Amino acid sequence: MSDCIFCKIVAGEIPSKKVFEDDLVYAFHDIHPLRPTHILLIPKRHITSLAHVGVEDEPVLGRMLAVAHEIAAKNGSVDGFRAIINTGRIGGQEVPHLHLHIVGGGQPVGPMLTKVQ
Ligand code: 5GP
Ligand code: ZN
Repeated sequence: MSDCIFCKIVAGEIPSKKVFEDDLVYAFHDIHPLRPTHILLIPKRHITSLAHVGVEDEPVLGRMLAVAHEIAAKNGSVDGFRAIINTGRIGGQEVPHLHLHIVGGGQPVGPMLTKVQ
């Protein structure tokens, strides 16, 4: 997708702090980290969101889950991490290229969600 910022990051057209890359996925530091470890792990091929995946995407989705722990541990979150995939309007997704947030650090990330009043 020519106007997608994460596709441009994969292509090297927008700079990023890369932490991992293989044939299917690319990982880089979030520009506005919310915890000491905050990495974005994305498919190299454009997929808009988890609401846009098909069976052909199973290999890349599996790879994302399979490499997340190693990326977290090598980037300051050795004792676990939280994986978050915001999806669409309800999920609060801002960038329409599927991405897994890998969030952590030396301290627990905190409660998963706060209750809506
Ligand atoms: P979302 O809300 O879509 O799940 O998360 C998008 C994330 O992308 C945010 O945490 C935001 O800080 C990050 N982000 C947006 N634009 C850029 C960028 O150009 N470079 C990097 N490294 N992160 C970005
Ligand atoms: Zn894209």
